[in-house]
Amino acid sequence: MDAKNIKKFTLTINTVILMMVLGLMLFFYLCKASILVYFSIPTIFVYIFGYILIVKKKLHFYLILVYFWITIYMGLTTICLGYEYGFCLYSLSMIPIVHYTNYIAYKINQNKIKTSIFCAAIIACYLASTGYVAINGPVYQGPVGAAGVFWFTNSMIVFFFMITYTKKLINTTITSEEKLKELSYADRLTGLYNRHYMMDELSDMSKYKDADAVSMIDIDNFKKINDVYGHNAGDYVLVTLADIMRRSCKDDVISRWGGEEFLILLKDTADVRGHMETLRKAVESYEFVYEDKKIDVTITIGFAEKKESASLDQWIRKADEKLYYGKNNGKNVVIG
Ligand code: GH3
Ligand code: MG
Ligand code: MG
Repeated sequence: MDAKNIKKFTLTINTVILMMVLGLMLFFYLCKASILVYFSIPTIFVYIFGYILIVKKKLHFYLILVYFWITIYMGLTTICLGYEYGFCLYSLSMIPIVHYTNYIAYKINQNKIKTSIFCAAIIACYLASTGYVAINGPVYQGPVGAAGVFWFTNSMIVFFFMITYTKKLINTTITSEEKLKELSYADRLTGLYNRHYMMDELSDMSKYKDADAVSMIDIDNFKKINDVYGHNAGDYVLVTLADIMRRSCKDDVISRWGGEEFLILLKDTADVRGHMETLRKAVESYEFVYEDKKIDVTITIGFAEKKESASLDQWIRKADEKLYYGKNNGKNVVIG
């Protein structure tokens, strides 16, 4: 939820609570529960003032005021009407709401609220009001049957809050975890998978067939490209090469293994050499142009099939050895 939506949401909630307060005030009047009728008057002003606070973006102050007031309101209605009316149940739903509010405050860079103080105050108010009623009984006797209706309605509202907030909290956690995972697996410059992802992907050797292969790819004389054209030109080459690989190796898993090295996992490819030759040629023939300067780029590729190795380390080392051989034998070649 962004700041604008939070404002809209809070305005709606404020209106809903204000309507409830007005409805309850009428009920208290009919019950002749004068304390509650009088208390409803400042309550109405609190929520009208709430609109100003929300519009003026004083969300932090608004929430402290509203939570404080709801806690008092809950305690007073319990003392006046008894706990059978179910107003004391709101203290349960207040706990996750207070914590979720803290999370939202963190999201929109507002001051966090002191959750422990709020929770302690809510519990104290709950115990004091229900304790008072347990010892002395309620101050007023409402109409027959009213307690049941209120108990049911208030229980349902509390359940709704508990379910909504818990669900929201869990969904937020899942979304954040997925985002973090995605970020931790991506290379920032090229957008390809990073080495960390590839290691995780390859860690279970048993899921690969004998024909599956890994290709180690290294840009030739990349240091010179950086030296002659500058580091930004080097970055441009890396990003452009990543795009060429994406186009050329649509069905393969491509990662930036480090610096100017890439590791590709090819699953069940009939002709690995042919496939890699196509990639090598695609890079060789591509016109790399950075700030009007043409840059010659070639790559050397070493690949190894899974059947050649007993462990993941061996598998990757084999491809690396082939790459090394290619580097020492003229570069711009595919060795397998
Ligand atoms: P060879 O053909 O033997 O592979 O030689 P090379 O020059 O490509 O290899 P070398 O290992 O000597 O140099 C690699 C260079 O890659 C050095 C480093 O500064 C550069 N490099 C590593 N990561 C990046 C990067 O993210 N951006 C840029 N622009 N350069 C990078
Ligand atoms: Mg290298
Ligand atoms: Mg290199």
